[in-house]
Amino acid sequence: MLSRFTEPEYRHPLDANAMLLRVTQGCTWNRCVYCYVSKEYRFACVTPEEMEEQLENKSRQGIYPENTKIWMVGSNPLVLPTDRLLGYIGQIRRYFPDFSEIAMQTRVTDVCKKTLEELQALREAGIRELFLGVESGDEEILKMLNKGASAQTALEQMLRLNEAGIDIVPMYMVGGGGAGTGERNAIATARLFNQVRSRMISTTGLTVFPNTPLWEMRACGEFTEAPEAEKVRELLIFVRHLEADTLLFCGHYLNPVHFAANMPRDKEKIVAGLERFLAENSPEDIEHMVNRREMHSL
Ligand code: SF4
Repeated sequence: MLSRFTEPEYRHPLDANAMLLRVTQGCTWNRCVYCYVSKEYRFACVTPEEMEEQLENKSRQGIYPENTKIWMVGSNPLVLPTDRLLGYIGQIRRYFPDFSEIAMQTRVTDVCKKTLEELQALREAGIRELFLGVESGDEEILKMLNKGASAQTALEQMLRLNEAGIDIVPMYMVGGGGAGTGERNAIATARLFNQVRSRMISTTGLTVFPNTPLWEMRACGEFTEAPEAEKVRELLIFVRHLEADTLLFCGHYLNPVHFAANMPRDKEKIVAGLERFLAENSPEDIEHMVNRREMHSL
């Protein structure tokens, strides 16, 4: 039955040991211009029988200790009705009663559709961490990316999640606005994230993949990709403006440079390191080092 789910499974790089349970495939929005993940997949969710099948398989493997973290796999499983999600969690508890927490990716707009009581019920049931595709704090950039959620909406929903006690990991796509917008994007995104409590902030770097609208936009001159040195500078400005008490994780393979920092403790060290990197390497060298053309999608 599960063979109908062919979309690659994704979990955050820091969650390599988590148990992955397929919940959805595809994305109910599917319109972000840069999206390379869910484009080819019609939205579908697993039946209770398919969830049972996965749990039996995982249980039989016998490799998951107590306190295992679970990832509900899919681009936006939170879009499903709360009862359905609670049903899945009930099934999970029967097989793995001592899991530590459940995490998943979600769209900001999926959070909008849940009442505070629903969010609290999901938290009580075990959903403790949501990776939110915020991507930018700049309204114009979000519109250009066709993200389908404004920065203001992202702020409101992150605050609701803070209130519901669900930890958030907002995602920031460095270079999302294209050439010439790095400073603006960095400052707006840092200001947005400074207003919420995040377990972690996780960054990626904009990459123009084939078969995406952004690829066409670049081909016809509607969009100019930022050089990698500008992306690094954007990250530097972001760190300078970030005041949140959080882990800043720039380890995803699409980042122009890779590091993790406890903020604000490591701020000066990271700023000095990025300044030195930009001073010691020419834009051409940085372009070669990042070698984005060789980066492939999932
Ligand atoms: S929300 Fe995520 S999965 Fe959906 S279209 Fe946008 S980038 Fe793709």
